Amino acid sequence: MDKKFCLHCLLRDCDREDTLKSIKEHIKKIADRDKASDTEYKRRVALCAECEHISQGTCLKCGCYPEFKAAFKKQKCPVKKW
Ligand code: SF4
Repeated sequence: MDKKFCLHCLLRDCDREDTLKSIKEHIKKIADRDKASDTEYKRRVALCAECEHISQGTCLKCGCYPEFKAAFKKQKCPVKKW
């Protein structure tokens, strides 16, 4: 079966399982005081999933993996979507 390849999606939606697994492991290590709430994390990731600047799991505005960056309470979207 062919792997899914999408230019316009989050890591969770394309063939980047290893990267996503690594990101999840790094998120677990973030101190609670620095971590966004689950609700806020999901809200942010949902906005990124619909954003015109996402490509293959990477934000083209800041070069981050939004699924990682969104986990930090004090991080911000470079175009102020969250
Ligand atoms: S961080 Fe902002 S600009 Fe980047 S993909 Fe997410 S919503 Fe879009």
